[in-house]
Amino acid sequence: MAKQVLILGAGYGGMLSALTLVNNLDGQDVEISLVNKSGTHQIITELHRLAAGSVSEKAVALPLERLLRGRNVNLRIGTVSEILLGDKVVALADGTKLKYDYLVIGLGSETAFFGIPGLKEHSFVLKSVDDANRLRAHVEECIARFSETHHVADGTFVVGGGGLTGIELVGELADALPPLCEKYGVNPDDISLNCIEAMPTILPGFPEELVSRAQTSLEKRRVRFLTNLPITQMDANVVHLKDGSSLETNTLVWTGGVQGNSVVANSGLEVQRGRATVTDYLQSTSHEEVFLAGDSAVVMSPSGRPYPPTAQLSWQMGETVGYNLAAVIKGGPLKKFEPVFSGTLASLGRKDAIGTVGSNQIRLKGMPASLMKEASNMRYLSHINGLYTLAY
Ligand code: NAD
Repeated sequence: MAKQVLILGAGYGGMLSALTLVNNLDGQDVEISLVNKSGTHQIITELHRLAAGSVSEKAVALPLERLLRGRNVNLRIGTVSEILLGDKVVALADGTKLKYDYLVIGLGSETAFFGIPGLKEHSFVLKSVDDANRLRAHVEECIARFSETHHVADGTFVVGGGGLTGIELVGELADALPPLCEKYGVNPDDISLNCIEAMPTILPGFPEELVSRAQTSLEKRRVRFLTNLPITQMDANVVHLKDGSSLETNTLVWTGGVQGNSVVANSGLEVQRGRATVTDYLQSTSHEEVFLAGDSAVVMSPSGRPYPPTAQLSWQMGETVGYNLAAVIKGGPLKKFEPVFSGTLASLGRKDAIGTVGSNQIRLKGMPASLMKEASNMRYLSHINGLYTLAY
């Protein structure tokens, strides 16, 4: 009987695992199933643009059926609720049970709320196309309402967290709010866009020169930064800060951090802070029939610190997982996971960006950084045969 391969998640890790596995099977009789909670592969690195209305949904939500056409992968839409390692079974939320011989987990990460009171209940997040659509509609509703009521809470937008997700979102919102104000006859001076960061500077860990470039660029577009000021509580319409001050707002977007996936954390796989630990070959350290790709796992750098959970790492992990799983099935040698870092680029809105590229971390600002960011998105799309989305 054909071996059953079950891949959980069709994000960067799961998708690249599936595509690479298929390309390396050399005619082996294997049944591959891919489970995902939506019918699309979501380009989550571009969600800030969807949230601000700069791109259409079609550009960031690629139908899985189209990407997997002709690849001999069974697609199943469902939400994974439990992994029963002893029985080699995965349970879905609708009660379906799926058996496997080999399991690939690419379930991604979850938003970390750090136990801050009210935050989960009263904030927006930016982890999926649905989240981005919800935020986009909400921002427009607030501006529309503000034009009639002038309530401060409707005209105050707050992004919690000044990491890469928060800054990219703030940049897009800074460009999107003025045209929205014009549409609803609102004076842009009456609207405020705030980014609140717990650490002394935004983009902690980025070179100082680029941090200051990002801050200046955004401040010129009316973004107000409150740094060294952790959010301590969120009520329905008020965000509270550590110094006792507060802001009245109907819009707090929380981008303050990510944590491991709870399905993985509760599965019985060996984990570290909720993320599965892996061998050099990306197999679980406790279950060799389980491979991991992306943020569900923690990969240690040679210095002993975990690599940051990024799209480029997930993508590369997926390729190694697909290759190694094919090797296990065929009986060939596995290859070690050796990530290559091409740099980090952050967009600051429609026309500006910063970043570092290459092994010697060359610093880029403005147009060159924007173009590199666009090129890296195109490179990924071409890799998964998704370039057709550029037409949208
Ligand atoms: P992050 O953890 O990198 O940043 C979260 C920020 O929120 C931090 O600066 C933190 O100090 C701040 N914060 C935490 N608690 C807070 C509080 N109570 N009040 C105010 N601020 C608080 O999370 P992220 O930005 O979502 O990034 C997650 C991962 O994804 C990172 O590895 C990042 O490199 C990657 N990423 C990369 C890109 C890119 O390459 N362009 C874009 C987005 C995310």
